[in-house]
Amino acid sequence: MIENQHSTQIKFARLSNIIEDSIVDGPGLRFVVFFQGCPHKCKGCHNPETHDFSGGYEAPISQIIKDLKNNPLISGLTLSGGEPFCQPQASYQLAKFAHTIGLDVAVYTGYTIENLLNEASSRPIYRKILKEIDTLIDGPFILSQRSLLLKFRGSKNQKIIDPKLSLKYNVAVEKNFE
Ligand code: SF4
Repeated sequence: MIENQHSTQIKFARLSNIIEDSIVDGPGLRFVVFFQGCPHKCKGCHNPETHDFSGGYEAPISQIIKDLKNNPLISGLTLSGGEPFCQPQASYQLAKFAHTIGLDVAVYTGYTIENLLNEASSRPIYRKILKEIDTLIDGPFILSQRSLLLKFRGSKNQKIIDPKLSLKYNVAVEKNFE
């Protein structure tokens, strides 16, 4: 079950880390927000310190927005984790703001797009956030399917998804992410 969260504006996100200039979390130079808390506990996860929902720190969303606005070099925002969909309102607010300043938005999730479409049918916040994501890298990291040859993904089960088209047709629609 995906953690619920009311869809009113919130002021803080619980984060593990922020990297303001990554070249490995999607194409171009990207501002990456790592959420704290992950229910998936994938074997071989590279970020086990992000699993504990009470770990990390509370970051003001207004400060993240200010930092995004003041960074002229980045081409995109990536939300990673941890699990961004366990803080859907914070993810939505950040993704929506990124679009207002012309950034492209990528999100890494341990849920599959099928999980998320199912949730979106009854929870408006999941529809809202899926509409604000340009590229979704979905599914848990599966150690037995790990490959170093995959671009921007860790294991072969993970798909690169167009969430808007997936919502429209209610089925996983894959895309290129170069
Ligand atoms: S979904 Fe990501 S952060 Fe969570 S356990 Fe799996 S690999 Fe780690």
